[in-house]
Amino acid sequence: MKNKQITVTAPLLPPLEEFIPLLEDIWKRKWLTNNGHYHQKLEKALADYLKVPYISLFTNGTLPIMVALQALRITGEVITTPYSFVATTHSLWWNGIKPVFVDIDPTTGNLDPDKIEAAITSKTTAILPVHVYGNPCDTEKIQAIADTYGLKVIYDAAHAFGVEVDGKSIMEAGDMCTLSFHATKTYNTIEGGALVCRDEATKKQIDCLKNFGFSGETTVIAPGINGKMDEVRSAYGLLELKHVDNAIAKRREVAETYRKELNGVEGISFYIDMPNVRHNYSYFPIFVDEMKYGQSRDELYFKMRENYVLGRRYFYPLISEFATYKNLPSSTKSNLPTAHKVADSVICLPMHHEMANIDVLQICNLIKNNYQPHRNWN
Ligand SMILES: *Cc1c(COP(=O)(O)O)cnc(C)c1O
Repeated sequence: MKNKQITVTAPLLPPLEEFIPLLEDIWKRKWLTNNGHYHQKLEKALADYLKVPYISLFTNGTLPIMVALQALRITGEVITTPYSFVATTHSLWWNGIKPVFVDIDPTTGNLDPDKIEAAITSKTTAILPVHVYGNPCDTEKIQAIADTYGLKVIYDAAHAFGVEVDGKSIMEAGDMCTLSFHATKTYNTIEGGALVCRDEATKKQIDCLKNFGFSGETTVIAPGINGKMDEVRSAYGLLELKHVDNAIAKRREVAETYRKELNGVEGISFYIDMPNVRHNYSYFPIFVDEMKYGQSRDELYFKMRENYVLGRRYFYPLISEFATYKNLPSSTKSNLPTAHKVADSVICLPMHHEMANIDVLQICNLIKNNYQPHRNWN
């Protein structure tokens, strides 16, 4: 039998027959971008779905981070996590801001709030945490620190689409939060993203910044950028929204099977659902304890690849290990021991809405069969 690859994700595509009439309508309207009909409809629909009053669409998930920093006039130093996709820190760098990495909490993978205060200096202006894998940050503790020191908080919520804590949207936390709708995310518009803010005046400012700084036909009031989402992807996004809850329900089933099958495999750990949290099951990371499992993370990772199971080592290496950031004072291994440990042990297993149960079981069997308790460590 020919082996098929099991990829880490598969994009959620709305049915093509639903999309074609919308394309025909766009062709009739002859309005392709710049706050068109579908752009406005999607902003409204997303505001309702995410339970936030003000949201601005973007053409990807990196520009909203960059624009949030501009809109809040963040300068100097910003405290952030090394355990994320590189776009989080790049957005600081593109704004001439110095990233200050703080270690993470192993139970969530998120910025450890107890380590933030020690990293604050007179130059610190903001905190940029990430709800990694959609695990909610300790937003209350982070806000309390921000309030004490007069700092802004911008959440990179790229993984946290639809996540709720105690029935409240995770998007309510912080001064602003950003989303990515990249093809690989739980909710996608092929490429796309959004910026959530708290009041109408700020939304106006953001909408101006994402359109070159134009306010009106001939007036440019700020050095804006082009971050606009077009009509075709906005219409796609409206359809995607109808299907995303089903996709999340399917992901949940996959997560439950993984947890059931991998429960008790020595040296393999994973997150369980947090109380009172509506998770979105964006990712299914496992953590390999080499001493207990008898194989290193990379040995298991490459064994999986040999067997056509394409997991990914998200997030390895840490952002602080990339050439641009490696020489920052906060990038030392001794400053980030937990982040290093987590990055060195993680594999994100294949996780998406179309995964066949038999594939999930095959992956779990592979992990179980590789367990080598009697390996000689001498
Ligand atoms: C995907 C992602 C981004 C960037 O989003 P793009 O839409 O690819 O620009 C930013 N932060 C995190 C944590 C991400 O996973």
